Amino acid sequence: MKMLKVSRGALFLCDTCYHIIEESGRIDDGRALSDDVIDEICPNCEDNNKPLLDDLLGSEE
Ligand SMILES: [Zn+2]
Repeated sequence: MKMLKVSRGALFLCDTCYHIIEESGRIDDGRALSDDVIDEICPNCEDNNKPLLDDLLGSEE
């Protein structure tokens, strides 16, 4: 489990997801360069980060 900071909080990602995003060059010093990294994460990580993902996707009711 690794932590990745995004604009509105921190995602907790499995090593695989973190590695994929890191390899794509979108992590700088533990922080995501863009919130669109959430497009890359697996269903398991989506579940783990559901409240934050909903927030990032702007589904405010
Ligand atoms: Zn994952």
